[in-house]
Amino acid sequence: MNMQEVFLMPKPMKISGRSSTITAAFVTAIIPQIKPTEDEIHKALKILKIKPENMQCAYCGGTYSEWDHLRPLVLNKKPTGYFSHIQNLVPSCGKCNQSKGGANRHWKEWMLGTATFSPNTRGIKDLKKRIKRLTAYESWGNVGPINFAEFVSKDDWNRHWDNCKSLHEDMKNAQEHAVKVQQALQQGLKKYSTKVVKK
Ligand SMILES: [Zn+2]
Repeated sequence: MNMQEVFLMPKPMKISGRSSTITAAFVTAIIPQIKPTEDEIHKALKILKIKPENMQCAYCGGTYSEWDHLRPLVLNKKPTGYFSHIQNLVPSCGKCNQSKGGANRHWKEWMLGTATFSPNTRGIKDLKKRIKRLTAYESWGNVGPINFAEFVSKDDWNRHWDNCKSLHEDMKNAQEHAVKVQQALQQGLKKYSTKVVKK
């Protein structure tokens, strides 16, 4: 047996490895939020055929843990113009929320697609019924994307995205420098050749 197959070196972390998280943070940090009324929450659950005393994930019927943006807030590193209000939020389980966020596709394509932990991948039976309810939900809100840049001065808007850009550049430079330091350490370690203790 090749012993190398049973050994797995832990993957080193990259300083620049979280760049999509940083972008998402810059978008979600500015997204406006509208708190729903009692009636709106009632109406939302009615369309999705979910009982408030038995809350469940709108995508898969699993245990709900959060409300997920039906239309994403971020696409191609930019805000889509959608925001946080109940017409764009549905109860979701953690698995669906994570899988959908990672897939970066329209909710229907994601549900029927082969992404890890998508409802289709997990073999959820009543997908057609769920898609029909979510389509009805989408037409209930029918709020198109907003041009956020209109609401803020050009300077403030640009400064926000410049901050985002320079943070990415800092991370990239720091990562390049880290590689240089790592190589020096690797080289230095050669002096300490590991001694195998014989029994
Ligand atoms: Zn789910």
